[in-house]
Amino acid sequence: MTGNVLHILFTDIAGVHRQVSIAVDGVPETLEGIRAGIDGSSIPGYGRIERSDLFVEPASSTIVDLSSFNGGYMTTGRIVTHTGEPHPWDPRSIAGKTVEKAWENGYVFRAGCELEFYITGKVGFYLGRRRQGLLVSASKGGVAGQVVKSHYVSEIPLEVEEALSDVIRVLGNNGISVSKIHRENGFLNQYELSLSHRDPLGLGDSILLSVASVKRVLNTHGFNGVFMPKPFADDYGSGLHIHVSMWIGDRNIFFDGGELTDAGRYFIGGILDHARSLTAFTNPSVNSFRRLIEGFEAPVYISWGIGNRSTMVRVPLNGGRIEVRTPDASMNPYLGISAILLAGLDGLRKKTDPGSPVDYNMYDKPSTSSRLPRSLEEAVESLLSDHEYLKPLFPRDMLEYYAELKLREARRNRSIPSVADYVDLEHLV
Ligand code: GLN
Ligand code: MG
Ligand code: MG
Ligand code: MG
Repeated sequence: MTGNVLHILFTDIAGVHRQVSIAVDGVPETLEGIRAGIDGSSIPGYGRIERSDLFVEPASSTIVDLSSFNGGYMTTGRIVTHTGEPHPWDPRSIAGKTVEKAWENGYVFRAGCELEFYITGKVGFYLGRRRQGLLVSASKGGVAGQVVKSHYVSEIPLEVEEALSDVIRVLGNNGISVSKIHRENGFLNQYELSLSHRDPLGLGDSILLSVASVKRVLNTHGFNGVFMPKPFADDYGSGLHIHVSMWIGDRNIFFDGGELTDAGRYFIGGILDHARSLTAFTNPSVNSFRRLIEGFEAPVYISWGIGNRSTMVRVPLNGGRIEVRTPDASMNPYLGISAILLAGLDGLRKKTDPGSPVDYNMYDKPSTSSRLPRSLEEAVESLLSDHEYLKPLFPRDMLEYYAELKLREARRNRSIPSVADYVDLEHLV
């Protein structure tokens, strides 16, 4: 076969998924020597510190074959300078350094995730369900987010099932192991795709490739995949929960006989200690903070619990890993995962006590725990006052630029009238 296309996916620091597509001969068995020129000055932040010629080169050995979905081949790449060195702000290379940093101390991280998204598309496919009034609106004085009927793990409509089966097949056949797909709580057709545990850099790659594959495969079935954190008012948001464990050889140092160890507690302590600053990377969009509200199984308070889905960090009852529930798919997966791991490592180093696990539903009673930031601006302000734990892997100039960029996004968004304004001021418009 000749005349194929290779899509190289990569990210900028803001978290935008970018791609360059090039012609390749036949099946790209090896990605050696492939490099595509890009204009660095057109990607926020990248043209400022160097001359603008940059390159994207494939960086992972994972190649997803989407040719039967009219999509060619897809892989992930990194941003390099003209001398072939990774750009100091290349998110994938920063994640690579985080993995190495753990390794220097003899640790190996493993990380998995749950990627939630809505399926929209075919006209009338979900709108009918919306009209059934199954949700008590949190904002209309009902018990916060109380749900009278749930779609959680309910049967998947046949047309969607066919599309999702294709997703599982296409990812599975190309080295990305989907451990589960199921219907989520959202009333407007929400799903969750779980990726098996692997090294964190590989997980970043898998997230990029999964989002792109879900979108492409769903499109060929006439649907769309929507990964934004809070697409609908009064319905569940979509998270990207990250699960982590740390190993020395074949020993998981977070657990001993199913019980959380001190190392596990300190790791959680580090994540809670830096929770507010972390959200600047794990929840880096204005929309992210519409999700972090009471009643929709998304975290609101800086807290941890065992088997408790109202807390920010959850230790699943069957142990094995620590789940961080704040992230959403608007995060740069390489930077977001790295920031979580660096916060946890800082906790290990400082022996940070996470306090006692919360054993009640945090949405039901007012909490004394501190709250996560309410907005992107608050998150960035926290990052500005708490970023030691990210050094030296996150370059200082990158952090400064990132804060500036995100504050700009937040301020601009604050000035845009929204549909909600028109609802509130109906009598004036
Ligand atoms: N959708 C929820 C979130 O926003 C999580 C729901 C769940 O996985 N139990 O994080
Ligand atoms: Mg889940
Ligand atoms: Mg879920
Ligand atoms: Mg989860």
